[in-house]
Amino acid sequence: MTISSANDKPLFTPGPLTTSRTVKQAMLRDLGSRDFEFVNLVKEIRRRLLALGNVAAPDYECILMQGSGTFSVEAVISSAVPPDGKLLAISNGAYGQRIINIAKVHKIETTTRVYPEDHKPNLAEVDAALAGDAAITHVAVVHSETTTGLISPLAEIGALVKRKHSRRLIVDAMSSFGGVPIDLSSGDIDFIVSSANKCIEGVPGFGFIIAKREALMECEGNARSLSLDIHAQWKGLEANGQFRFTPPTHSLLAFHQALDELEVEGGVAARAGRYGDNYKTLIAGMREMGFKEYLKPEDQGHLIVSFRYPPHPNFNFEEFYRRLNDKGYVIYPGKVSNADCFRIGCIGRLFPSDFTALLAAVRETQTEMGFEL
Ligand SMILES: *Cc1c(COP(=O)(O)O)cnc(C)c1O
Repeated sequence: MTISSANDKPLFTPGPLTTSRTVKQAMLRDLGSRDFEFVNLVKEIRRRLLALGNVAAPDYECILMQGSGTFSVEAVISSAVPPDGKLLAISNGAYGQRIINIAKVHKIETTTRVYPEDHKPNLAEVDAALAGDAAITHVAVVHSETTTGLISPLAEIGALVKRKHSRRLIVDAMSSFGGVPIDLSSGDIDFIVSSANKCIEGVPGFGFIIAKREALMECEGNARSLSLDIHAQWKGLEANGQFRFTPPTHSLLAFHQALDELEVEGGVAARAGRYGDNYKTLIAGMREMGFKEYLKPEDQGHLIVSFRYPPHPNFNFEEFYRRLNDKGYVIYPGKVSNADCFRIGCIGRLFPSDFTALLAAVRETQTEMGFEL
């Protein structure tokens, strides 16, 4: 079987997502894990990730972790909360629920505040939970809930958890880091997690954690697994610049190139601008065709959009998906639990012109299936 990239379809999905040709080309090498060049590459990636969050060593440290993004979230939850600690997990979607599941698997004492998928977390309730339970040591929240595209107010959550209640704050910023400016220098966030194949536009293979150093030091000896121990992983990286176990060398080469391309684009603000333009093009065209977003406009972020299934007897998602796919466009099924939706991602190496082309294909499909709204 020959696999030709010439036939690759743009991925309007929240991961894996479309990467540039040059990012893929950067992988056409085999580097040894002890290679001087590779060790420097890892060092440089860690430094540049800290800079994207507007922080630097030694106050903050960057840990790279093999695996998909969930591995890094699990690494933080299972390494940060001590055996006698307690987690407050805030959830308003599938990724918040995943954090709750992680805590459960590791038998971490947990209290939850779960909100509907079309609502931001209720911060007055979070405030009350923290005021009423001194046992809570850590709070975990998802920044951009990829279930819906809802972005929660990080600064307000940080002010509450850290400044008012002095608890450790863990943020899953998987689908937002690099696509939304996030300034960690306020000191409110202790651990923030993202991965290679989201807004930085690298290929899948690893996740990364930016940790406040003092919070990271507290993790020593807490880990509930060998391979997902963030303190041990960090120590390994610091000691000789190497991963403890086989590193994803090709992903790291691609990621380094992706960081260069982010810089050339003009940094996170410029990338957020492009994703914002993608988003505006998308929703204007979809609304014109009669599609409706799941979220209220004031809760909707610019990274991913959930659209409701159109209330028309001729609409059928499987067929809609297949017809778009046949035309060369890949969208994503929904993940919302209480409504039928599909999702379209605005992130990855996509430009407004890609969305104009997608919209034309949606319009054509709408006519073919006969569900004009
Ligand atoms: C993509 C994503 C993850 C990680 O998913 P993986 O499939 O493990 O890479 C976690 N949280 C959020 C909010 C995400 O968007």
